[in-house]
Amino acid sequence: ESYILRIGHRPERDQRVTTHVGLSSRALGASGMYLAADDAKVADSITDVAARFGGTFFCENNVKWKSCINQFKKSGGKVVHLTMYGLRLQDVIADIRKEEKVMIVVGAEKVPGDLYELADYNVAVANQPHSEISALALCLDHLYEGRELDLAFPDAELEVLPTKIGKTTIKHEHGNEEEL
Ligand code: SAM
Repeated sequence: ESYILRIGHRPERDQRVTTHVGLSSRALGASGMYLAADDAKVADSITDVAARFGGTFFCENNVKWKSCINQFKKSGGKVVHLTMYGLRLQDVIADIRKEEKVMIVVGAEKVPGDLYELADYNVAVANQPHSEISALALCLDHLYEGRELDLAFPDAELEVLPTKIGKTTIKHEHGNEEEL
C-alpha cells in the first residue's frame, strides 16, 4: 500500500506539477495523496478526476507535513523520501517492497533538512536532478514491478477503451453502458 506526501507546494507556481503528482500516483497504484499546503483547487481537481475515472484514491488538503509523517510512522508505515542525494533506488527497492505500507514524500523546491532524518529511506531515482513527477512514477513502477499498469479502477463513470487510432471512451450511467 502506498501513499504520497507532497511538500513545499507553492499555490502560485506549483499547481500543475502538484496536480500531476496526484494524478500520476493514482494512475500508478498509490492509494491517496496528502498535500502539505492549503490549495483546495488542486485537491478538488485531483478528487474530481478520481471520482470520474473510478477507484478510491483520495487527496487530503492542508496537512501538516511533520505530524502527517509522525502519524503515519506511528501506524506502522515507513517513509520513503525521494531525493537526488539518497541511496540508489535499484539498491533499496527490494527492502522497500517488503514494507506493508509506505509514504512516498516528494518536494517542490528545497525540502526541510529534518526530513532526511525523519525518513526511513532517502531514495534517489538516479543521483541527478530532475522532477518529482518522474521520480515518483519510476519509484512506483519499481515498487509494483510493472503490475500497476494492469490496475482496474472500479465504479468509473468514464472508462477509456484502448484504441489503435483515435479515442474511445465508455460512459457508465446508472448501470447502463453507452459508447461515446
Ligand atoms: N533543488 C531541490 C533540492 O535540492 O531539494 C529539489 C527540486 S526537485 C525539482 C523537486 C523534487 O523532485 C525533490 O524534492 C525530489 O522529491 C524530486 N526529485 C528530483 N530529482 C530526484 C531524483 N534524482 N531522485 C529522487 N527524487 C528526485
